[in-house]
Amino acid sequence: MIYLDYSATTPVDERLFDYFSLVSKEYYGNPNSKHRLGQASLHAIKESTRLVKATLNLKDQEIIYTSGATEANNLAIKGYAHKNQSSGKHLIVSPYEHSSVVACFSALEKEGFLVDVLPSRPDGLVSLKDLEEMIQEDTILVSIGALNSELGILQDLKSIGEFLTKYPKIAFHVDATQAVGKIVLDYDLIDMFSFAAHKFYGLKGIGALVKNPKIKLDPIISGGSSLSNERSGTPATSLILSLSKSLELAYSNIEQKYEHVLQLKNYLVGELSRFENVYFNSNSNSIPHIVNVSIFDYSSVEVQRILNNHEIYVSTQSACVANQGYSHVIYRVTGDEKRAKSGFRISISYKTTLDEIIEFVDCLRGELLK
Ligand code: PLP
Repeated sequence: MIYLDYSATTPVDERLFDYFSLVSKEYYGNPNSKHRLGQASLHAIKESTRLVKATLNLKDQEIIYTSGATEANNLAIKGYAHKNQSSGKHLIVSPYEHSSVVACFSALEKEGFLVDVLPSRPDGLVSLKDLEEMIQEDTILVSIGALNSELGILQDLKSIGEFLTKYPKIAFHVDATQAVGKIVLDYDLIDMFSFAAHKFYGLKGIGALVKNPKIKLDPIISGGSSLSNERSGTPATSLILSLSKSLELAYSNIEQKYEHVLQLKNYLVGELSRFENVYFNSNSNSIPHIVNVSIFDYSSVEVQRILNNHEIYVSTQSACVANQGYSHVIYRVTGDEKRAKSGFRISISYKTTLDEIIEFVDCLRGELLK
């Protein structure tokens, strides 16, 4: 089996199993209970939050734990729009977003918010000029993903953040799900960002929304006050502790991990470039962990099926929209419907070996490449 779908989700770091079992036994008290057992759990969560902040180099941001990135995106986008609608009803979103972001904006549009989608560009980057032209008097939110899950194109978040400081009424939300755990980012100028542990070898079912304390949100789940007023329910202590642990593990030796992925990506691209029917949809702005390729004349679903027969696993589009006809993001960036229908994503990890990449290329050569 060769797993090349790490951007969909990752295998759990083995070290987390013992840790999860240990903390589940120790911290079973409800962190909302005022007795000593409950307060021990609350204290452990606070320590865990400190670790998240130290690992991501955060300053005074707050962390709201969620079930994953979809919930974090919903809380950020809907929660902010609902809470701040008296200041304006205009929202801006990038054209390269994940379905969990797109769907929030569609829902808000149906409620009467005005949503503008930034134009797409051949380089896959958001242009500040486009953003400036789109901002109105009543714009309250701009949402731009750190990097797109299909093409891996990394946005210039620092420049966008700096630019948006001119507009104090506008909150800047970043879906950082594909970036956290793979690369180091500067979060200082971002008002809210979302991520999930299962993208960096953590457990499924836990994620977070990190936000500037000045940002106020309406909760999307009704209930009592818990760790925060914005997210009710008994905190999942063991999952929360496992999130900080997986984050710490993901960021240890991050430069070496990145370098390993970069070398494998360069090898892969070098090998695939020799074939006439291969087109690269990811570009020089993409992180090395994501290589998106079209093989003419095979649809992405055909490629996936053929590789699947060899126990090689890649993605067509993002796993969450896998049944849609073609990739709207590839179409928007390349302007080519054929490429959008045939694009598939190879996602590489620091765990991937050169032998796996060689075997993968051999398989493509035998079955599909000309
Ligand atoms: N945002 C991006 C960019 C993603 O890639 C994903 C998952 O594929 C999500 C959000 C949703 O994450 P989750 O599955 O944790 O809800």
